[in-house]
Amino acid sequence: MERHRDRALPGTDRDAPTAGTGPRIGLAGFFLEADRFAAVTTAAHFAANLDVADAALLAELRAAAPRLLPDKLGFAEAMGASGPWAPVPLRMTLTYPGGPVERAWFDTFIGDVRARMAAAGPLDGVFVCLHGAAATTGEDDPDARFLETLRQAVGPRAPILAVVDRHTNVSARMCAALSGFVAYRTNPHVDLRERGALAARLMRTMLHEGAGEVVLEKLPMLPAGTDQPIAPGTPYHDLMEGAQARVDGVRGGPVLEVSLCDGFPLADCARCGFSVVVTARAGQRAAAEGVAREVAAAVWARRHDFLAPLTPLEVAVSAAVEAAE
Ligand SMILES: [Zn+2]
Repeated sequence: MERHRDRALPGTDRDAPTAGTGPRIGLAGFFLEADRFAAVTTAAHFAANLDVADAALLAELRAAAPRLLPDKLGFAEAMGASGPWAPVPLRMTLTYPGGPVERAWFDTFIGDVRARMAAAGPLDGVFVCLHGAAATTGEDDPDARFLETLRQAVGPRAPILAVVDRHTNVSARMCAALSGFVAYRTNPHVDLRERGALAARLMRTMLHEGAGEVVLEKLPMLPAGTDQPIAPGTPYHDLMEGAQARVDGVRGGPVLEVSLCDGFPLADCARCGFSVVVTARAGQRAAAEGVAREVAAAVWARRHDFLAPLTPLEVAVSAAVEAAE
């Protein structure tokens, strides 16, 4: 995770114009980038950064200087601008990158989310803020367990849309629980607000047409975390341009979004790796699968361009000695 900018946003009309009416949309989130080789993350880390529920979560949404990531703010603003809706705050917790979180804490967190979903009553949809490369001390895919908990509560028809960090290690379980998947495109990550707004547009589409389909193509490659530029001429830029050309949802086509995710190698687990994730309209899974396969083939054809030149140790040491002298 890079540091996220643009947290403070002007205006507080994130549930305008008619809060309290319209579709009831749950707001939830779990955000941890877990390095298997770092010290264990605990409840204290989440408490020190952000861990809010119910009224406190709604207050963050309406605060002049909210601590929420901008994706949630962009989602709320775009929902408010596109018609009535009723935000239903559940629980949102985040912390900065660290080691795997204590399994017992995560089990309690999941139980709490389940209870809050039950208490919230029927929801028309859920918006999720997710890093997507978490781990616990006892499992490799807590992100999937979190999303599955939400899915079990709302049933198969309600759209669940997630905005996800580009460094997510996407799993098939995660995609099966979701109706829409929107990853950041920038690095450092400065487009969260825009991605949240896109998720709101997809939510409106799915509230009208039915929950969408999310298809994953996983590639057996791990771009180095030290070198992921997005400027024109870089492989990521070119491939993203190609992927975006396949998004035809605004013209009435089946494909609503294509996300390219580098992954996070230090999570050191089976779901690590580059992911192509396609979101399609309800009933358009076959179209999404075709696009996912073609975009993944384009990524694979350029896999050698992702090799990052590293500085040999002796050169780095010489440079450090020279600098010191
Ligand atoms: Zn990241």
